Amino acid sequence: MSQGRSADCEVVVLGAGPYGLSAATYLKAKGVDVRIFGRPMAFWADKMPAGMLLRSPRVASNISDPAHRTTLDAFETSARVPPRAPVPLETFVEYGRWFQRQMLPGLDQREIASVNRNDNGFTVALEEGEVLHSRRVVIAGGIGPFQRLPPEFASLPPSQLSHCYQGCDVKAFPGRRVAVIGAGQSALECAALLHEAGAKVEVIAKIQELRWIGQHPWLHRLGPISSTCWFPMASSAAQKRHSHDGTLRHFCNSGRTRGGIDAG
Ligand SMILES: Cc1cc2nc3c(=O)[nH]c(=O)nc-3n(C[C@H](O)[C@H](O)[C@H](O)COP(=O)(O)OP(=O)(O)OC[C@H]3O[C@@H](n4cnc5c(N)ncnc54)[C@H](O)[C@@H]3O)c2cc1C
Repeated sequence: MSQGRSADCEVVVLGAGPYGLSAATYLKAKGVDVRIFGRPMAFWADKMPAGMLLRSPRVASNISDPAHRTTLDAFETSARVPPRAPVPLETFVEYGRWFQRQMLPGLDQREIASVNRNDNGFTVALEEGEVLHSRRVVIAGGIGPFQRLPPEFASLPPSQLSHCYQGCDVKAFPGRRVAVIGAGQSALECAALLHEAGAKVEVIAKIQELRWIGQHPWLHRLGPISSTCWFPMASSAAQKRHSHDGTLRHFCNSGRTRGGIDAG
């Protein structure tokens, strides 16, 4: 990589998701010379299934700033977006971008290519070759880089296989059979959205019970206490069948409450 112009700063924040935006805002408010890198809310905008509703209640979906001014409520008022609970994905993406414009207008959208220690801090190389020297680095790169594809699926072509962190265009599968492998939140969220979009969905997982984080409407309106309440619940409405190898198969042929397979 060619080494371009050098610049110094006190703190570099890698990643402009909710945590990176908030960390950089707090540092800036303390008068720290901070630079933040990355496309704002990129993981949420590009890698989550369209149509998703947030599972965190409204009160837990604020991006924190020291003065508590740039709240979700404040964004909705300013953008004339009707408040909804649960919060739609697109509202949260726009909220994060609005937060960035308000609090961190100097954000640099370039990717960081590498971070290496040097004698008095870190050498941070940007994608186009510019190199910065920073005393500290905050890594707020999210969970996207931890995508793992089990080797059993390695031989499948991209036309037949996608990982949920690559984003999921659920509208591309009406009438088609789709197997969703896994039983975590991403798997169940994708399965329910695919089902709503007309796909014939089967969830295949090596567990005995689905543990779904419930999305009870009242939980989203509880106020501050709701940020401490999470209710995993087993799905009973999706038909389930254990195959000979103990794999649990759920068929999404039941109704769905928004954000989850209907628990009936
Ligand atoms: C399907 C699904 C639903 C979820 N629902 C919720 C929910 O309702 N509520 C909730 O609180 N959490 C939810 N989560 C978890 C959510 O991903 C994290 O809570 C949240 O995104 C963490 O914020 P973050 O800023 O750490 O990461 P992210 O939002 O992932 O932001 C990290 C950013 O860093 C960027 N980045 C990475 N590497 C570099 C680099 N080298 N240079 C520059 N930029 C880089 C990425 O592009 C990304 O935009 C959900 C996750 C999934 C998968």
